[in-house]
Amino acid sequence: MVEKVIIVGSGPAGYTAAIYASRDNLDPLLIRGKEYGGQLMLTSAVENFPAFKSILGPDLMQAMDDQVSQLGTRMLNDDVTRVDLSAYPYSIFVGDTEYKTYTLIIATGARARWLGLKNELRLVGKGVSGCAVCDGPLFRGKDVIVVGGGDSAMEDSLYLTKFAKSVKIVHRRNEFKASKIMQERVLKNEKIKVIWNSEVTDVMGDNNVIGVRLRNIDTGNEKTEGCGGLFVAIGHDPSTELFKGQLDLDKNGYIITHDNVKTSKEGVFAAGDVQDHMYKQAVVAAGWGCMSAISTRKLLEEKGIIK
Ligand code: NDP
Repeated sequence: MVEKVIIVGSGPAGYTAAIYASRDNLDPLLIRGKEYGGQLMLTSAVENFPAFKSILGPDLMQAMDDQVSQLGTRMLNDDVTRVDLSAYPYSIFVGDTEYKTYTLIIATGARARWLGLKNELRLVGKGVSGCAVCDGPLFRGKDVIVVGGGDSAMEDSLYLTKFAKSVKIVHRRNEFKASKIMQERVLKNEKIKVIWNSEVTDVMGDNNVIGVRLRNIDTGNEKTEGCGGLFVAIGHDPSTELFKGQLDLDKNGYIITHDNVKTSKEGVFAAGDVQDHMYKQAVVAAGWGCMSAISTRKLLEEKGIIK
């Protein structure tokens, strides 16, 4: 048997692709992974997804999962271990089981890089965040710390000044890696202070972040800095290990797309953060998922696989 479409990944892009493909009678197989739901499972209140004034990230993903289940979509709670895109129909392996498919929608997302602090992941959603655009408005009137020296850290810091009382950037060098224009904006902003040559060694708090431990890299001196939020902005890693050498990826590992969601292989589409290093928003990922399902249907029609 050859599947009409296999969708890999269960963040907003994968679920939206599944909703569209199911409603289009494509009978998709959604391989949603052992841990489903994507990055929103690690966030607290989501206040920028239309129709929900405020909803917890895991609740939003559960609602998407319920919607897909209700449509009768076949779901596999396992991880893809290997793909072979060299022969058509394509082969997707889950352990020893091979699935053949005419089209593939890749929605495997990206992972925010974390610092690896002892208490960091425990406090995600309780003051530790990997997404300023998502969580910034929850930090109104608070002192926050941003870690990183690239454009993400600059952009996040500037955005956070709209809400936070103060923003301190902690960077491990004595110069930023970010583009000059972003650096200038940051350095000119009176609400932002930079703590150079320093690293965060832990984050403190029981149910909410109350501060961080800082270490000066030159002197080795440590101190505590009080804050109500820690934003980690040290980059993302797209989940594309499975596709290396089989699809065109950019230098940061994101899948390169053209005509919105088409990849370098016909019939393979990429949707969401796995190909979008710019917006990284749930609502945008959902949009890419929609586009990929519609493009899939059009291709299957063109190939005469469906009427
Ligand atoms: P980058 O890889 O550019 O920067 C990551 C930053 O985090 C670096 O300064 C790095 O330090 C620091 N870092 C990495 N690991 C650690 C760690 N373990 N501890 C402390 N610091 C760490 O990632 P970005 O997300 O900032 O940007 C990714 C890409 O997206 C870039 O090409 C960027 O230009 C682009 N972008 C563009 C934007 C725009 O144009 N508006 C906005 C956001 C991103 P070090 O400097 O020492 O390497």
